[in-house]
Amino acid sequence: MRLQGKVAIVTGAGQGIGEATAKKFAKEGAKVVVVDLNEHGINSTVDAINKDNGEAIGIVVDVTNREQVQAMIERTVEQYGKLDSVVNNAGITADSTLAKMTDEQWENVIDVNLKGVYLVGQAAAKQMKEQGFGGTILNASSVVGLYGNYGQTNYAASKWGVIGMTKTWAKELGKDKIRSNAVAPGFIQTPMVEKMPEKVVAAMKARAALGILGEPEDIANAYVFLASDDARFITGAVLSVDGGMVI
Ligand code: NAP
Repeated sequence: MRLQGKVAIVTGAGQGIGEATAKKFAKEGAKVVVVDLNEHGINSTVDAINKDNGEAIGIVVDVTNREQVQAMIERTVEQYGKLDSVVNNAGITADSTLAKMTDEQWENVIDVNLKGVYLVGQAAAKQMKEQGFGGTILNASSVVGLYGNYGQTNYAASKWGVIGMTKTWAKELGKDKIRSNAVAPGFIQTPMVEKMPEKVVAAMKARAALGILGEPEDIANAYVFLASDDARFITGAVLSVDGGMVI
């Protein structure tokens, strides 16, 4: 088991990629703190992990709220004694073309996808520094952050911003043995993608060299690798997991 003895927080773990990541971390031996806005989703992820002989607790947290984020770190340490990894997976979309985008759409996406990652990263890094043995911070970017996408000004800006934070933290935190990496998923079969128009999804499939959408487990596998000691020499990287969408 590649994460035996480790303690990990996964945000947005009530469904989709976060749910698959929390389950995969538990399967690999980590004690997992399942975080989401949605209590029903949290309970279903935690129950599935516990039924599978894993170890998990759930906490309702809005990642845009500094007090709730701090309480999440404190509860994790109280329960499991330390924090080895955080997966900054919670993210939202609110699509419109540039011409039609509202300030509210802009602010909502920037708040969750950028401020949320900043707040969780800052609080996690403080805990990891204090422990003295380091840790890993993993951030959800997207192919859209790297290459842009029609109708996603706000989302593309947030996901490119995530890459900037990831690289900055790698430079600032390396001396404290904290690694910081991002994963840039292509199009993955999740509730987020189910909300997209069918023709957009078909076009996305056609653009991938492998001609398919990914599964949440494909992204979870990348997070497990980057959180594990197998990746001990990797920091500041952006790992594309996109079926060859952009080569
Ligand atoms: P998803 O199915 O929509 O799940 C995201 C989860 O995050 C939801 O349970 C959501 O709760 C939660 N969440 C939203 N705002 C939150 C907040 N403020 N605090 C805490 N939790 C919050 O998303 P996904 O498709 O699995 O994507 C996960 C991540 O990968 C996102 O960062 C996304 O941008 C990125 N990504 C996804 C794809 C893809 O193809 N799916 C591709 C590239 C990148 P509610 O449902 O209650 O809002």
